[in-house]
Amino acid sequence: MLGLMQEWPLLCHKIIDHAARQHGNREIVSRSVEGPIVRTTYRELRQRALKVAQMLERDGFVLGDRVATLAWNTARHVEAWFGIMGIGAVYHTLNPRLFPDQLAWIMNHAEDKAIFVDLTFVPLLEKIAPSVKSLKKVIVLTDAAHMPETSLPGAVAYEDWLAGADGDFAWRSFDENTAAGMCYTSGTTGDPKGVLYSHRSNVLHAMMAAMPDAMGISSRDSILPVVPMFHANAWGLGQSAPMIGAKLVMPGGKMDGASIYELLDTEKVTFTAAVPTVWLMLLQHLEETGKKLPYLKKVVIGGSACPRVITKKFQENFDVEVIHAWGMTEMSPLGTLGTMKPEYAGLTGDARLDIQEKQGYSPFGVEMKVTDDENRELPWDGKTFGRLKVRGPAIARAYYGGAGTEQFDTEGWFDTGDVAHIDPNGYMQITDRAKDVIKSGGEWISSIDIENLAVGHPDVAEAAVIGVAHPRWDERPLLIVVPKAGKEPSKDDILRFMNGKIAKWWMPDDVAFVSEIPHTATGKIQKTALRERFKAYALPTA
Ligand code: ADP
Repeated sequence: MLGLMQEWPLLCHKIIDHAARQHGNREIVSRSVEGPIVRTTYRELRQRALKVAQMLERDGFVLGDRVATLAWNTARHVEAWFGIMGIGAVYHTLNPRLFPDQLAWIMNHAEDKAIFVDLTFVPLLEKIAPSVKSLKKVIVLTDAAHMPETSLPGAVAYEDWLAGADGDFAWRSFDENTAAGMCYTSGTTGDPKGVLYSHRSNVLHAMMAAMPDAMGISSRDSILPVVPMFHANAWGLGQSAPMIGAKLVMPGGKMDGASIYELLDTEKVTFTAAVPTVWLMLLQHLEETGKKLPYLKKVVIGGSACPRVITKKFQENFDVEVIHAWGMTEMSPLGTLGTMKPEYAGLTGDARLDIQEKQGYSPFGVEMKVTDDENRELPWDGKTFGRLKVRGPAIARAYYGGAGTEQFDTEGWFDTGDVAHIDPNGYMQITDRAKDVIKSGGEWISSIDIENLAVGHPDVAEAAVIGVAHPRWDERPLLIVVPKAGKEPSKDDILRFMNGKIAKWWMPDDVAFVSEIPHTATGKIQKTALRERFKAYALPTA
């Protein structure tokens, strides 16, 4: 027997309809790429998104067409997203930090037909566009006054293009399983792989993200997504913020400590999210200037493991709650969040920080397990680690074009490539990427734990740990350190600081000092580049 409830497909444009109707005057504040701060509302944003949809259709784009965006977080980027999805086309966020060759490869693979591009990235797109045969239309996200000279064929200024529409348009309707968005993983090994979100998965993910014990956001919040829309959908905030009617504050292209601080302060931001490196910059800015964070209540930190020192400083010096989160492009991206269940809610000080070093537990909509290499499920004892596998309605069941089939099994589990353990209360902790784990004498050493500890040293700005070949142990950990400006910590200093805080056999065999550590396009430490650079490194213990 079927239920007798209404058919109401979960389509993304219903989110912006709801925002315009229920929260129509709520502001979206952007640091524009042209410079000034600009303000709009959900009502206006929806109206402009309808014009985007109307113009795309007039230009001949239809259901299923991939429309790329190469842009910072601004209201224009959000309205482009909703406009694209509103005709059943697919927004495809491109990460401008990738190399031109990689971007061209990705655009060709996705067969992008049109692109919305920020002024900042016009020179970059000029390099790529000639090799993307599918590309028919370039829309530069600016007005006529700021439109640059460009070799991009037929490029139009967004505001001019939009002026061609009157907005008298109705969203197209289609099945909720229709593709809505696309994002490629950065592919540190092998080619990038395309993840194809559906309307249904985006809507469910936005609801899941907003729940009180997930991000816990509401219409009373002022939300600053520092995490870019091209980095796994700004962790869903581009959809969950309008869904619950929160004010949105968009940082544009400026993500340094001072610029972020300015927005946090003037826009009375209560909630923000970004990768750890952004917060290291902000905290440094706060320490240098003596400024405080009177409005900010919560910060979500993920993308790579959040060092304890960041959590401690936010909470103890600024009274801001840290939510450590883990996720992946393949998961829309949220997987787990470290909010406190009653079992842990009473903890304070170091005991609380211990729990917050874990990546947290999964909300409804994410199932997870850890297995050994034979796919046998491992106990949730908080120490036995293995491969982390997940499934749920906002998790990829395949990659676009059929790559990476080995990561999906017949029971619907996706192998994340992360190594983790889960404690009896369901809190998961990543110990490594499977390919970064250090294998010493047949046992595994977690590079993340050592890195987290090392960045707690007052003179250390950033730290990375890699395995280096060792004649007796196969591999031993080498700690690579970027000292803080003006500081010269010694190897002994650092090792003494770490001593007793991790198992003795996990202690790095040596410390190498460098001026910079390379990062991937999503802000993670590029271990492949470090392994290459230090592959002939002679450990003193060898
Ligand atoms: P990319 O590989 O393109 O950078 P993702 O942003 O999807 O794409 O990366 C997901 C990976 O980032 C996860 O599989 C995990 O290894 C790592 N990661 C994300 N959040 C955390 C976290 N809080 N702690 C440790 N690792 C994390």
